[in-house]
Amino acid sequence: MQRTLRDAAAQAPSVSIVGAGLSGLAMAMQLRRSGVTDITIYEQSDGVGGTWRDNTYPGSGCDVPSHLYSFSFAPKTDWSRRFAEQPEILEYAESCVTQNDLARHIRFGTTVEEAHFDEEHAQWRLSVTPRGAATREVVTDVVIFACGQLNRPATPDLAGAVTFEGTSFHSARWDPTCELDGRQVAVVGNGASAIQFVPAVARKASALTIFQRSTNYVGPKPDRAYGAIERWLLEHVRPYELAYRWKIYWSFEARWLLFRRDGWPGRRLAGTFDKGIRAQVVSDRLPETAVVPDYLLGCKRILISNDWYPTLHRPNVEVVTDPIDHVEADAVVTGTGRRYPADVLIYATGFHTTDFLSHIAITGVEGRKLADEWRAGAGAYLGITVPGFPNCFLLYGPNTNLGHNSILFMVERQISYILQLLALTSATARTSSSRLSVDVTPGAFSRDSQRTQRLMSATVWAGSCRSWYKTATGRITNNWPSWSVRYWLDTLRVRRGDVVLRYTDAPSPAGVGPAGGESDGERRAASAGRVQRS
Ligand code: NAP
Repeated sequence: MQRTLRDAAAQAPSVSIVGAGLSGLAMAMQLRRSGVTDITIYEQSDGVGGTWRDNTYPGSGCDVPSHLYSFSFAPKTDWSRRFAEQPEILEYAESCVTQNDLARHIRFGTTVEEAHFDEEHAQWRLSVTPRGAATREVVTDVVIFACGQLNRPATPDLAGAVTFEGTSFHSARWDPTCELDGRQVAVVGNGASAIQFVPAVARKASALTIFQRSTNYVGPKPDRAYGAIERWLLEHVRPYELAYRWKIYWSFEARWLLFRRDGWPGRRLAGTFDKGIRAQVVSDRLPETAVVPDYLLGCKRILISNDWYPTLHRPNVEVVTDPIDHVEADAVVTGTGRRYPADVLIYATGFHTTDFLSHIAITGVEGRKLADEWRAGAGAYLGITVPGFPNCFLLYGPNTNLGHNSILFMVERQISYILQLLALTSATARTSSSRLSVDVTPGAFSRDSQRTQRLMSATVWAGSCRSWYKTATGRITNNWPSWSVRYWLDTLRVRRGDVVLRYTDAPSPAGVGPAGGESDGERRAASAGRVQRS
């Protein structure tokens, strides 16, 4: 049986986590429960919650049911409604911090700029910059990147955009001071974010123009507030809540069938959808080309909303499918030359999704740069680890996004797998001065990549649509290509043949210290007169 980190606490590593979103916080929680106390979380912003801190637009919420949107080891059972909104999810993230005493581990306003593996000492050296202070180097045994896939807003480079004299912002950087009442608002994009805020904006604006490049499948959202009795049962009767959670999980898992390219369930649902849209939505103002997708169901993310189509029918709303040509001081102009006056321009244009971690310079063994390894598209063994980058792990990494179930399930599996790897290194250390690093073998990585791409070719994502899951060359780098249960099985146990462990007996390097504040390990090291570590 594999030993836990707690069994081997004497060799417990120092761990640095980059990002205090839900996955970074969950990693820290589980590390602490495994006996690791020397944990530092670097967070460039001033708050926790990641995407749920960033996306504060009106109507922001989750399209995965609430009871599957908390970690099984930190369940939230008092959700107010079936599909939680952003404030309640952010509150959950904050409660993870308070209930698990994580605040002392977090360095807010601190950016990790670079990470390189010091082979001699088998440790990572991070260049971290606390806001307003000089960059300094810290040393850590393990680095875990928990930066998410949807954290860097992408704003298109529209001709003339800089000449726009009104207010403009990206939906993930919502300007709460921007007055929308009675204004002429232009929205670029109609993806998952737009469909959530457009109905609220349409109720305020005098005119709202949606610039739409492609259509989406938008289904109904079975949302409602929980009644008092149901909420009490969910909150206080644990078996009831667990059964409810499992019911959601399995009903969502069954949706995987929709994502098979040759599957009849997807075709059948698409047929029903198209028929319903033609009958109920298509009108003189909304031609078929504006609302009926021309690609396989699921190729782009399937959206859910109850007020999207009614909003499109409002007299003050117009959907424009002509491509944007340029922006002027007070208008957006399309290729046909038509001007759409605008006081406010909102970019709901998504994120830089396929260039994972490109904002951090990461160097592994023999000077290998992660950016070079990922030139043709990001990839990692089970989405977690890359050969040549020992003791470096990813959460919500390449090919771990889901179109059909909760991403928190995947993150839990990654955390469990990383803990197993760390237990392996800690438990196998021969002496207290030995350090072990764990690395995936190139062979295992290559087999895993080939399997991922083979499975991917049978999915709807391999169809001809444009989506945020694909690189410019069409490689699908973001999604997991199978059932989430399959991922669970793959991450259940570390296959010893797929990883190599290396001993290092060199002492810790001198002259480096923490980025600010003290973690347990920092205090221990300082009081023992040893070299400080992060
Ligand atoms: P998105 O789905 O990638 O949508 C971006 C939109 O902008 C698309 O309509 C896209 O058109 C359009 N666009 C991009 N560049 C453009 C350009 N140069 N000119 C014109 N249009 C352009 O981004 P998102 O809406 O921010 O959502 C991203 C993901 O975030 C979602 O898929 C989802 O996973 C996550 N999200 C989740 C929730 C939730 O409920 N859990 C809520 C919000 C977001 P094309 O379609 O033609 O590319």
